[in-house]
Amino acid sequence: MPNIEQKVVAITGASSGIGEATALLLARQGAKVVLGARRLERLEALARRIEDEGGEVRVLSLDVTRLEDAQAFIDFSEQQFGRVDVIINNAGVMPLSPLDALKVDEWNRMIDVNIRGVLHGIAAGLPLMQRQRSGQFINIASIGAYAVSPTAAVYCATKYAVRAISEGLRQEVDGDIRVTLIAPGVTESELAESISDDGAREAMRDYRRIAIPADAIARAIAYAIDQPADVDVSELIVRPTASV
Ligand code: NDP
Repeated sequence: MPNIEQKVVAITGASSGIGEATALLLARQGAKVVLGARRLERLEALARRIEDEGGEVRVLSLDVTRLEDAQAFIDFSEQQFGRVDVIINNAGVMPLSPLDALKVDEWNRMIDVNIRGVLHGIAAGLPLMQRQRSGQFINIASIGAYAVSPTAAVYCATKYAVRAISEGLRQEVDGDIRVTLIAPGVTESELAESISDDGAREAMRDYRRIAIPADAIARAIAYAIDQPADVDVSELIVRPTASV
């Protein structure tokens, strides 16, 4: 199996930001990409762009909080291309706020998308990868998986969880399946648009001035996929050189 070319890569949260940049880059490098997210029209526009460049792509609407959607997404990927080599659990939300704002619905949303969404991707894809005796999970965490900051307690908790789940999975699966955690620092995307708390939104506006392009994270993902099958890039932190 070549390293990226011809690999079948299923990407959640491919309708914007890091997922979109990753789909474009991997398709340009010859991967067959399957794009999932809720905004189907955005996925279809991206698919047209990839096809115009000569790439191979399929799209399916997907809500990662629903296990049946995650399973349908992986089954569809396998039906379309005969196998699934890489699952990128990238979908995420980040409505930051101080805990005493008691935005319980937003806490639950982060837990549902950022933790359950990753677990659903694993549940949907692990049996297939075990049958194939090969595969790779790439889970997108954050620098918030290593340190907590004000307004980000719940978001960081979800990303610590993604890191713990990824490390546990890596330890448990046998040598045929690779597990990679990618931890971005601040990156250009639509992620901050879900912040409803005024103070957190204002702080994030400052912080985002140093954001790196989403393609920087896509290149890290491509690097992890591109290694030989016996090399697992288990953790990568990619952040702006500048700090705030
Ligand atoms: P974006 O908001 O641009 O992209 C998030 C993606 O997740 C969108 O495609 C969105 O698609 C999708 N998504 C959200 N909820 C769901 C859902 N329930 N089911 C399926 N898809 C969903 O942000 P980023 O590209 O920045 O985010 C990608 C990942 O990177 C996230 O996990 C984020 O936490 C992480 N990250 C980002 C950083 C940054 O600074 N940008 C830093 C550290 C980590 P749709 O709305 O169409 O469903």
